[in-house]
Amino acid sequence: MRLLLSNDDGIHAPGLAALYEALRDVAEVHVVAPESERSAVGHAITISNPLKTKKVSRNGDFFGYAVDGTPADCVKLALSALLPEPPDFVISGINLGPNAGISVLYSGTVSAATEGTILGIPSMAISLNTFKDPIWDTAQKTAREMVLRLQQDGLPQNTLLNVNVPNITFEQVKGTRVTKMGRSRYIETFERRTDPRGNVYYWMDGELALLEDPEDTDLQALADGFVSLSPLSFDLTHHAALPHFEKWRNAVVGAAGVSS
Ligand code: MN
Repeated sequence: MRLLLSNDDGIHAPGLAALYEALRDVAEVHVVAPESERSAVGHAITISNPLKTKKVSRNGDFFGYAVDGTPADCVKLALSALLPEPPDFVISGINLGPNAGISVLYSGTVSAATEGTILGIPSMAISLNTFKDPIWDTAQKTAREMVLRLQQDGLPQNTLLNVNVPNITFEQVKGTRVTKMGRSRYIETFERRTDPRGNVYYWMDGELALLEDPEDTDLQALADGFVSLSPLSFDLTHHAALPHFEKWRNAVVGAAGVSS
């Protein structure tokens, strides 16, 4: 089994090293990741600048390629230029911080997995539900189990797997839930500050607002002490809304058009 690992916390992030250590003895592991933190860049790609790469070592051994681009750039570049052969799976993480609810849309971690899926490689994102004092061991054991499942069962087409792990010890994990992406999101506040030259600037902060989500969401699973597995699709069409627009069908018809 050959794996491509990436992330959005950067190639030097402890979560990526933890993922590498968790998987190195079950697979041939390749690492291509942003050279610095690119959290919350979503699915951005770099089109106006060249992408520089750098070989990075860890504990004296070659670890992987650092790219001065986004997570999606890293996966594109890895698959088309850096890896000798395509990987069986793309695994993105382990992110420091959850990627659940509306955060999924901003997440660079999830976007690396989305990019892998777009390029035809079954992909998974994995995130730990904390911003401090991470218990990597729980996420490492989860990552390893998930990769073995992927190897055994694969994923449906055009589906990526978004995994969120509660930040509790492995023994405390209550179980695993298959969940839906919740609607809960951060309510942002902007702190107004003044720099030493008197210029005003703003710094975003925020708090997670738990909206009235149903029980079966990613965030609820985390709150209840479960590992959350959400199958995601990148078809943003709201299929249930299509009938609403049925009568808009001929809203704009040019001279060459056929009104029906
Ligand atoms: Mn991140």
